[in-house]
Amino acid sequence: MSFPKIEGYVVTEKLGSGSYSTVYKAITKVGARSTVAIKCIDKSRVKHSGTAVDNLITEIRLLKTLSHPHIVHMKQFTWDDRNIYIIMEYCCGGDLSKYIQRYGRVPEKQVLYFLQQLASALKFLREKGVVHMDLKPHNLLLHKGSDGKYILKVADFGFAQHVAGAGQRCLRGSPLYMAPEMLRGHHDARVDLWSVGVIMYECLFGRAPYSSATFKELVDKIQRQAPIELPPRSSISPGCQDLLSRLLQHDPDKRISYEDFFSHEYLDLEHMPSKENYEKAVGLIKRAVELDARGQLARALAAYGDSLR
Ligand code: ADP
Ligand code: MG
Repeated sequence: MSFPKIEGYVVTEKLGSGSYSTVYKAITKVGARSTVAIKCIDKSRVKHSGTAVDNLITEIRLLKTLSHPHIVHMKQFTWDDRNIYIIMEYCCGGDLSKYIQRYGRVPEKQVLYFLQQLASALKFLREKGVVHMDLKPHNLLLHKGSDGKYILKVADFGFAQHVAGAGQRCLRGSPLYMAPEMLRGHHDARVDLWSVGVIMYECLFGRAPYSSATFKELVDKIQRQAPIELPPRSSISPGCQDLLSRLLQHDPDKRISYEDFFSHEYLDLEHMPSKENYEKAVGLIKRAVELDARGQLARALAAYGDSLR
């Protein structure tokens, strides 16, 4: 198999492929020799599909405006006679589906760590009025930071949409992660919350709630809204169970709202490990030291406590 030739880059390996593209790892030829990921879209395949063109334009337009620590960053895009290339930051830890495959079940503490990062990206998308519509482990990339910890980044905005007030009517995404109302046609931003629930379930138990032997069985389970049961002897915390069951509500009106999700006690978004919160903690420590020096011990202690949290 030959790799595509992309001006300015040396393509070194294939990273993965998805619905309408192949993604490669590459190194820049000049300058600091940085590693990038290049999503390569065959123009001839796109030409015959109006939807693919739409997806592509959506993805490029959106990625250009989305800059967030938990959203994969688009550096540039370019094309030649055969392909269109989206050049992105490279995430060296594979995607979440491979991580689940490798570890089987993810410990609850690690699930929460990923979930906080996913939620912070969703909060940002929500502020921008963007619905992803295809959240699934394949589209959540992992990057290993300098401290050896994984950082989760949302990728693949090919199906994403800017939400207008009214719901949408076309079918997109993967059934295993797709909110039930999407099969019925009318859906809105709340579909992403269902997918978050499915991803959380799959991380915790090693398989999606509706994992099935055949496609028909899967569609049947979604259509008849088969009850979602936790595997026997699952030992997740009550907070985790509460959040999971509120995300996996078939009826979007009964599903947890974005507001309640972001402020859910278990998710504890306010205290997630992030650069922003680290800086907040450092500020609080400085304040505590000042108060301590002035002899205001009770207030100093409170500030110390807050900073530790
Ligand atoms: P598609 O729209 O075709 O589904 P994706 O953007 O989801 O394309 O990419 C397909 C796969 O390629 C991902 O599941 C992931 O394994 C890999 N991949 C994509 N982008 C990157 C990246 N920036 N760094 C590392 N791997 C990536
Ligand atoms: Mg994908």
